[in-house]
Amino acid sequence: MQEQLSLLNRISDELNADLHPDRMLRRVLDLTVAHLNATTGSVMLLDQQNRVIASILQQEDLSRERAVSIVGNILTDGFAGWVLKNGRGDVIHDTRLDERWLVYDNQPYDVRSVIGTPLRRRQRIIGVLTLVQDEPNQFKEADLPLLEAIAGQAAIALENAQLFRQTEQERIKLSAIINGTQDAVLVTNSANETLLLNPAAREILGLKREPAPNQPLIELTDNTELLKILSPNSPSSGEIPLPDGRTMWANVVEIPEMGQVTVLQDISAFKALDQLKRDFVTAFTHDLRTPLATVKGYIELVRMDGPITTRQEEDLDGMTRAANLMKSLIEDLLELSRLERLEELKVEDVDFESIVISSIGSLRPLATSKEIDLIMDRADDSLFIQGNSVLLTRAVSNLVDNAIKYTPSGGRVSINLARNDHDQAVVSVTDNGPGLSAKDLPRVFEKFYRARSEVDDTPGTGLGLAIVKTIAEQHGGQVWVESQPEKGSTFTLAIPIVENGI
Ligand code: ATP
Ligand code: MG
Repeated sequence: MQEQLSLLNRISDELNADLHPDRMLRRVLDLTVAHLNATTGSVMLLDQQNRVIASILQQEDLSRERAVSIVGNILTDGFAGWVLKNGRGDVIHDTRLDERWLVYDNQPYDVRSVIGTPLRRRQRIIGVLTLVQDEPNQFKEADLPLLEAIAGQAAIALENAQLFRQTEQERIKLSAIINGTQDAVLVTNSANETLLLNPAAREILGLKREPAPNQPLIELTDNTELLKILSPNSPSSGEIPLPDGRTMWANVVEIPEMGQVTVLQDISAFKALDQLKRDFVTAFTHDLRTPLATVKGYIELVRMDGPITTRQEEDLDGMTRAANLMKSLIEDLLELSRLERLEELKVEDVDFESIVISSIGSLRPLATSKEIDLIMDRADDSLFIQGNSVLLTRAVSNLVDNAIKYTPSGGRVSINLARNDHDQAVVSVTDNGPGLSAKDLPRVFEKFYRARSEVDDTPGTGLGLAIVKTIAEQHGGQVWVESQPEKGSTFTLAIPIVENGI
């Protein structure tokens, strides 16, 4: 008993010392063969379909092909096949009297006694452990429990080795991906110490070599934007300018109990393209203004030169309308490109309610002329925000203007002002107009997008909501729409509130 326990202990040590399955099983076989006084032994491992995936023979005087052919056959026809089928171990006291033992031509050793047991893992037999002796009656049924215990340990160790190998392979794969990617990957813990920097990240930070483990990020870079985005309570993405003129887009993902993973993508090409587009729009629209003014001037001249017929008068009116539409398109475009240059935003403390009141005031005549009921619900709280009052008035006016413009005569537009749970001042403009179809809904904030039915009837450039969206984002807020066809729409603009505002 004592001896068996010490054998099991030694086997357990062997199994834990090596994660290479072949070597591990061979050592187990050596110890077991010696302990049970066997001539030799083998372990066969099986896949899900019970095909032999590996066979380890203690005695190595067989060629590999020969060994595989013997164990392969034994498994399906012979004793190991029996163990597999019956799911339990057994002893053959004399192979000559037991038909489960198959004898092959050129069998390299004479086998008379055999003991075998399955290797089991989670209800499945993953292999068979067999010991043989060249004399009959060498193994006893009483040896089976020990062999089963050894097989049990070997099966656990095999699974561990397999899991370890899988994890190791995953780790290698992942590290190849991280190291090979063009994007810079930076992993930091909650104290902003670096846990991992891929080569692209080292290049961005200008590091010649790998930093020391857990080196604080502040020692590796003085890029204030990068340090800012990795500090607590900062936005999770943003632009990071590099000293060499490149611009990166950083995305920070919090990983619980670890820290954060930051991925930096080079967006310099997009920035350059965007700048090109803006310069083009500005130059183009600017140059269009002069000939347009000339056209309008000539229309007036024709009128003054008169006399003109009623028909000609109508034609001139049509030309004036078209020229005015073009003028407002140019102005909207110019405004949008001005707005997109963030740094120009001048902010002050403003009372959101007075902005809404003045926007409504200037549009009331339009509502009255269309016989639309224009109602406003005031907020209970004071709503001070930091922003640009001219732009905010423009944004609110655009929403109210749309509501009046698209709602048929006799309709109703109500404006609600409130503070929401996210400390935002929120204005919602609800109308009982035509609403928006599911197809139009996601696109109305795009530049130049107009719902199909609007294109012919109502004048407009399709830039109003794009301007509202840009203004909202510049104020750290959002704008969104909820709408049902034929029932109406609610456009909502939310801007963060500044506490302690005047
Ligand atoms: P403008 O640049 O003169 O404002 P526009 O009103 O067509 O032109 P947007 O304000 O951007 O442009 O609106 C885009 C489209 O969204 C509109 O053409 C219209 O189809 C739809 N839309 C906007 N507001 C409403 C509303 N309250 N009800 C129904 N449709 C609306
Ligand atoms: Mg509009």
